[in-house]
Amino acid sequence: MMYDRHPTVLLFFLALLLGGEALYLPTAWPQLTPLHKAAGSLAMALPYLFLYLSAFSDPGAITAANHVPEMARYPYDFSLFHPGAVCATCERLKPARSKHCSVCKRCVARCDHHCIFINNCVGAGNHHWFILLLLSTAVLTAYGGVLGVNLMTAKMKLRFPSWALLPWRANRGAGMEFTQWLVVWSWGMQDGGQGVGGGVAMGAVTLLALMTSPLVWGLLGYHLWLVYCGTTTNESMKWADWQIEMDDGFAFKRRMAPGRVKDVSVEPVWTRWPAETEQVLLRTMDGAAPSADAGYPGVGEWEAVWRLRDVENLYDLGFWDNLVDVFVPGFMFRDPRKPVGERRLRQKQKRRARKIILA
Ligand SMILES: [Zn+2]
Ligand SMILES: [Zn+2]
Repeated sequence: MMYDRHPTVLLFFLALLLGGEALYLPTAWPQLTPLHKAAGSLAMALPYLFLYLSAFSDPGAITAANHVPEMARYPYDFSLFHPGAVCATCERLKPARSKHCSVCKRCVARCDHHCIFINNCVGAGNHHWFILLLLSTAVLTAYGGVLGVNLMTAKMKLRFPSWALLPWRANRGAGMEFTQWLVVWSWGMQDGGQGVGGGVAMGAVTLLALMTSPLVWGLLGYHLWLVYCGTTTNESMKWADWQIEMDDGFAFKRRMAPGRVKDVSVEPVWTRWPAETEQVLLRTMDGAAPSADAGYPGVGEWEAVWRLRDVENLYDLGFWDNLVDVFVPGFMFRDPRKPVGERRLRQKQKRRARKIILA
């Protein structure tokens, strides 16, 4: 039961939106200017739209039919994702950056995480809808909170002219005590409302909006930060594991030969990504460097890696291209007509070092 898709949390989220609006609007709506009515309607509509799109669009399910193009989405970085890994459930090669979701029971392209709020995976196909859902919910909670405070304070000032939003201002103006200031607040939150619960309902929803807003903004900031780093929630956890290996002295890297011949039975011949890995990362059991000719990919001597910033992240092209990759799923970073054998790829940046560790 816990490991199956179930819309409990999605319905809870929906109930919170609908219930909040049903309690808030009867009091707030008649007081709003036409501009706020228009902006408020848009702010209320967008989270529903993006919730629908996040929940019901395909996050990038990998099937027998799309397996070949999905393999060409990203090259293997030989650090987090290695060619040849097979999904034990789907029994197909795992494309780079994909993950098998045990809840959805399928492999998902560039899987970020399974999100119970949308009852769906967040992956290459719906990541942009998910970010827009966070943005629109963050805006709605902030807007509703600030508007609610404004409506209440306007009323309080009308009744108690010496009252001010900041308690020390009220005190300076007419000697209003802090306790009096609080009493006016409680009056303002209760009085004069329409509909179920009257003003209390709007006041309570305002309070809830103001309390949840920082959380939603924080989550949005975190996801934009991941985009800036060219990584996903799933990958940031893998990088955190690498940090542990590095701290223990078990991580080694060496160069990947630029003109290497790919094993096309496990690797895509061509990908739309404009870069190929220049490094191989390896963990050892004992902290001793593997011998140079032990049969692992790459060329040259192995060197110990102690810090994440000393390894490159193949999937970070810089913030704008990372954003394009999220918002235009399947964007062709490379001309598909270019001959396959062309090795010197358009390297976006040589500074593709890990930006930061998250997790
Ligand atoms: Zn799978
Ligand atoms: Zn899932």
